[in-house]
Amino acid sequence: MNNAFENAMTQLDKVAKIKNFGDGLIACLRQPDRDIRISIPVKMDDSSIKIFEGYRVEYNNTLGPYKGGIRYHSETEINEVKALAFWMVLKCAVAGIPMGGGKGGITVDSKKLSKGELERLSRGWMQKLSDILGPHKDVPAPDLNTTPEIMAWMADEYEKITGDKTGAVITGKSLKDGGSEGRDTATGLGGFYVFEAFRKELGLPEKCKIIVQGFGNVGNNAAQIFAEHGHTIIAISDSKGGIYNLSGIDIEKLLKHKKNTGALSSFMDSKNITNEELLKLPCDLLIPAAYENVLTDANANKVKAKAILELANGPTTPKADEILFTKGIPVVPDILANSGGVIASYFEWEQNLKNEHWSKKEVFEKLKIMLEDASKKISEKARESKTSFRMGAFILALERIKEKMK
Ligand code: GLU
Repeated sequence: MNNAFENAMTQLDKVAKIKNFGDGLIACLRQPDRDIRISIPVKMDDSSIKIFEGYRVEYNNTLGPYKGGIRYHSETEINEVKALAFWMVLKCAVAGIPMGGGKGGITVDSKKLSKGELERLSRGWMQKLSDILGPHKDVPAPDLNTTPEIMAWMADEYEKITGDKTGAVITGKSLKDGGSEGRDTATGLGGFYVFEAFRKELGLPEKCKIIVQGFGNVGNNAAQIFAEHGHTIIAISDSKGGIYNLSGIDIEKLLKHKKNTGALSSFMDSKNITNEELLKLPCDLLIPAAYENVLTDANANKVKAKAILELANGPTTPKADEILFTKGIPVVPDILANSGGVIASYFEWEQNLKNEHWSKKEVFEKLKIMLEDASKKISEKARESKTSFRMGAFILALERIKEKMK
């Protein structure tokens, strides 16, 4: 069993060995400022009351208000949320935005709830946490299985409780509810910008054969964006399994197929594969875009990708990292590769506070500039310390936090 928080702390220990940041900073980052567990009573459609467990971890706010998504998942628990909150601290620092790191969640299989139950649960989460949240205190957003609609319910609940009408307490809202242009595709598009910034250094061809693990918002957007730019998606999966077709998978048709059949399997001209098989297929670029701990010491040795771009949070365990580094398979780390989402969230927050509306073009141009800059700096840090891109990103983040702490 891989504990995501232990993995995160192993990464922190590792960077402390590569560069001396002083004991104070490392000690501060070994635990969150606070972690909160709540119970949320929800009236179910059959009139029974069910209690759900929810969380908010406020990890560190040196650089600005705590920032990070809310995850709905049956396996979500406090250690996972802590790890995700820690990575948000570093992610915001790497992106160069004035935000700290936090994360929230509810242990729930949200697919089993009716729309009404989901709304009551989401409003309940906000009711229990509204005093610690706020545009200048702690700003949540979507994560796994949470949607713009859920963000809008929560923003509305916060407004009812506090009277704050800016909407800036939460990001990832839909456009009609005060969201930003481009937020929905920003994580996938950001990943593509980072890939372009790194492509030559990774030794990858102009047109790549790509494998994507995950068919949620991030995975399917990324697949579409890479395909639109002439790359070939040769395999893709969701939690139930995947499909493989060396001549390329049409993502738009696949979306329709999943809508009609409920699964990716049995898609035209493709072979059904398992998630484990998918990770071991030869390709130019492997994009884990689903969940933590998918690349481990049990399978990293069998990875045949030329490079990895992490769009999920924490998909590679520290042991797998070592194996991939020794094999010469570079990993572009999550805290850079998937930071397009939180950067666009920051843009949304700024627009809400200033009562502005930026065009999609403006949002994407700014996003591209910030990600190119962060990519360049991380690659320099990695080269200077002869280490991995992940450790390069950690060094950049810790330097920025340390400087602000002074
Ligand atoms: N949940 C996303 C992440 O892991 C986005 C967070 C945000 O927009 O605040 O980066």
